[in-house]
Amino acid sequence: MFEEEEVGLNQQLAGKVALVTGASSGIGEMAARALAAAGAEVVVAARRADKLAVLASEIADSGGKVFVVAGDVSREADALRMVADSIEKFGRIDILVNSAGIIEAGGLESLSIDQWQRVIDINLMGTIYICKAALPQMKAQGEGDIINISSTAGRRAAGLMGAYSTSKFGLTGFTEGLRQEMGGYGVRVSIIEPGATETEVAEGISDPEMRDAMRHHVARAGVMQPSDIADAIMFIIGLPRRANVSQILIRPTDDTAPM
Ligand code: NDP
Repeated sequence: MFEEEEVGLNQQLAGKVALVTGASSGIGEMAARALAAAGAEVVVAARRADKLAVLASEIADSGGKVFVVAGDVSREADALRMVADSIEKFGRIDILVNSAGIIEAGGLESLSIDQWQRVIDINLMGTIYICKAALPQMKAQGEGDIINISSTAGRRAAGLMGAYSTSKFGLTGFTEGLRQEMGGYGVRVSIIEPGATETEVAEGISDPEMRDAMRHHVARAGVMQPSDIADAIMFIIGLPRRANVSQILIRPTDDTAPM
């Protein structure tokens, strides 16, 4: 099991290159640490270059190889640059983790169209831009792993999470279609659907009451830690290449709500 304090290089992923979006915090950050600790060369991507720089220096200090690309995945030009810079730096992309995402809470009446658009642009289109940009490289390699981070909200809609659920339901359709499209080229495509995980994800919510409720939801005792989702990513990657885990639904043990 991967724990942050256990970071130490092993060679499981030596020679592999990983691009992780949303690496400046939470699940993406922990995924980047886990991949680097397993010997992969890791490109860390997000908008906050300062946070990425701190992460990169910590990974480098542990003996890892890391490269920072700052940008906004909801801008196609940034997504293209993230992928191109990764390939220019390390020569290939073996593992792509799309963790960049935001939550906006509210219903169709209370959220503006711009707010709906932003959630869909980041959570869904951002992942699509990055995947489209990385595919030619993976196809040429005849090998690759794409892991998209969705949510339980991609399976179960809620009245005040409409925009978020729409983006994550969309991600499910996109990911399964891509799996079917790319399996014949040796590219595995997976989706992970986490439940409550202790990260900064509540901070992007505009409405103060909803933000507080979400803060509580992801910080209460018993929720998962980003390392739990990083473990799921490492499990997917670690299986023989003939096996594609297409979907992992992972929830806090004490989350007994039916799905
Ligand atoms: P965090 O807020 O901790 O991390 C989100 C990451 O996404 C940050 O690194 C942020 O970096 C990045 N990001 C946001 N918008 C953009 C953008 N436009 N371009 C590039 N990067 C962006 O939250 P989590 O780690 O929890 O979220 C990761 C994923 O997990 C999301 O897709 C979320 O929907 C999903 N998830 C989280 C759950 C939870 O309970 N925490 C449950 C289910 C799913 P920056 O601001 O620097 O750009």
